[in-house]
Amino acid sequence: MRVIETIADMKAFIKMNKEKGKSIGLVPTMGALHEGHLTLMRRARESCDVVVATIFVNPTQFGPGEDFQSYPRDLSGDSEKAASAGVDVLFHPLAAEMYPPGYATFINVRGITEKLCGISRPGHFQGVATIVTKLLNIIQPDRAFFGQKDAQQVLVIRRMVQDLNLDAAIEMVPIVRESDGLAQSSRNVYLCPEERNAALVLFRSLKKAEQAVSNGERSIGRLKDLVKKEIAAERLASIDYVEMYGYPDLQPLEELRGQVLLALAVRIGKTRLIDNMILEDSPACC
Ligand code: AMP
Repeated sequence: MRVIETIADMKAFIKMNKEKGKSIGLVPTMGALHEGHLTLMRRARESCDVVVATIFVNPTQFGPGEDFQSYPRDLSGDSEKAASAGVDVLFHPLAAEMYPPGYATFINVRGITEKLCGISRPGHFQGVATIVTKLLNIIQPDRAFFGQKDAQQVLVIRRMVQDLNLDAAIEMVPIVRESDGLAQSSRNVYLCPEERNAALVLFRSLKKAEQAVSNGERSIGRLKDLVKKEIAAERLASIDYVEMYGYPDLQPLEELRGQVLLALAVRIGKTRLIDNMILEDSPACC
């Protein structure tokens, strides 16, 4: 596996492979790789000739007071893991390579960024849309792979790719969880053992809602209340948001109809965790 640090070298590598007719798969990450990331990489390996993963802790998607400085970084561990998942190239640019002095261009996706994480993290999706556009332009992938863990992010990127006539197919990979249900996240390393245990409340509350739906509950208000009550019972947890919107349009609903995204952001101690589940109104029988 090759590690590339400059945009010029990355473009030269892509040009050479495109000339050979190779298909390119892209997996953007911020590093501190875990099974969630590696699943995306393996998925890319299965369907593309050349797999490029990027490791870039993108400063523009962090707000003031967020964890940009302390975000876990481990390039040598990440290199081993990415190579074992079949990655051909790890693109690992410096911040000054991606945002040189005088940098002034940002991408804003309206509407779907104005809810969920867009409210609690102002500017976050502008940073995400901007860096993903830059990576799509530099790497020109046939397919780019993103996790359902960040379901709103996938919707923002799909909207942007469509609106800006970009060519990459955007593939969403299901959430990878620990054996006890906690969604894998680079931020899980911030949790002390007591918090790690408390963090199970996210998945537990999603499962409660799923169970209620399969028992026939259709009221969005009651489903959200059920989830909030479960989280409120966990002493170390405080709710940032618990929301349910139609999926994939993120329109508000009163009754469960078709697919609905149940999305949570919860602070466990100082660590903000997100999780979600796509719930479905079971099709009418016969
Ligand atoms: P990050 O490094 O956190 O920016 O994540 C990079 C990519 O990995 C994003 O597309 C995430 O949605 C995806 N990802 C992170 N955690 C998981 C997970 N537990 N399961 C599936 N995909 C994930």
